[in-house]
Amino acid sequence: MNTDQLRQEIIDYSKEIGIDKIGFASADVFDSLKDRLKRQQKLGYQSGFEKGSIEERTEPDRLLPEAKSIISIALAYPSRMKNGPKSTKEERRGVFCRASWGVDYHKVLREKLEKLSAFIEDKIPDASTKLMVDTGELSDRAVAERAGIGFSGKNTAIITPEFGSYVYLGELITNVPFVPDTPLEDGCGSCTKCLDACPTGALVQGGQLNAQRCLAFLTQTKDFLPDEFRPKMGNFIYGFDTCQVVCPYNKHVDFHNHPEFEPEPDVAKPKLKPMLRISNREFKETFGHIAGSWRGKKPLQRNALLALGHYKDETAVDDMIAVMNNDPRPVIRGTAAWSLGKIGIKEAFAAIREAMEKETDEEVLAEMEKGLAFKEVV
Ligand code: SF4
Repeated sequence: MNTDQLRQEIIDYSKEIGIDKIGFASADVFDSLKDRLKRQQKLGYQSGFEKGSIEERTEPDRLLPEAKSIISIALAYPSRMKNGPKSTKEERRGVFCRASWGVDYHKVLREKLEKLSAFIEDKIPDASTKLMVDTGELSDRAVAERAGIGFSGKNTAIITPEFGSYVYLGELITNVPFVPDTPLEDGCGSCTKCLDACPTGALVQGGQLNAQRCLAFLTQTKDFLPDEFRPKMGNFIYGFDTCQVVCPYNKHVDFHNHPEFEPEPDVAKPKLKPMLRISNREFKETFGHIAGSWRGKKPLQRNALLALGHYKDETAVDDMIAVMNNDPRPVIRGTAAWSLGKIGIKEAFAAIREAMEKETDEEVLAEMEKGLAFKEVV
């Protein structure tokens, strides 16, 4: 079959199945990405969530022998929540970043890519394909950039002219040689809004991210959060997208093209206190279908405790004391103690002192000391 004709048929079919943007790229080695990854590795800027070696992440034919092209897809997601519940003094709420508002995008994009793959294999029976979304070896962003989906912003997001950077990306490697699209020109110019807005200086320089300082990554870790980042989290309990919110390309951008990505307000902005005592079963039922649950409930509970500390929520003190005294996980007990100290009322300090008499874990005891070092509110 003529690949130009198939290319057009794929574009038409992608619209039919609800793909917002599609682009074609060569499967050549990603040379500049390889250099950047090596530099990042040397500087210790990686998140640790990366899959595969640098070679696998930059040489598509290591993933699919005789790879010739990569098809990149983008699906837009909403940036605003209609009727979002308000955080009140009595019932404080946390927030998931926008990319985790609806049904887990990995699932939705994977289904679209499987359909595309079947479509191609139906037209060319000896075609081979390999698809990936976020957790594969390839960089979704590097592929999307090469396929003309968008340009790579200084905030490291792919910025599309149509949907800003509020897009999920996925790709399909194939041995079919399609004519590639042309990459877009860089659109950041002299703007530095995202660099200026990043509270931790994680955007080291245009286009380079130190994942070890990025709050979006840090919300997903399972250990104690390093002290310096705790006051910067606000009420984010998963992800952090300030560098996208401030971007001029995202102003007035709010697409609701996919029912799956519509936020469920009470899930996307959950009440914080109930999160402290949520059972595994309830957690799975409430949050199991969203991307932000992939690390389990522990990081979210740790972040919920920090958010309650951030709000100085006195109504949460009893629940937090119960967690500090009874939770089997040291990270949760210790973070509860730290946040109780942050709230700073007499009752919280007294509870920390009492708990210290029974606590045996060194790290938790250290957090309790830090909690007691906060100033008491009079
Ligand atoms: Fe580029 Fe400015 Fe957007 Fe940052 S905020 S990605 S510098 S346009």
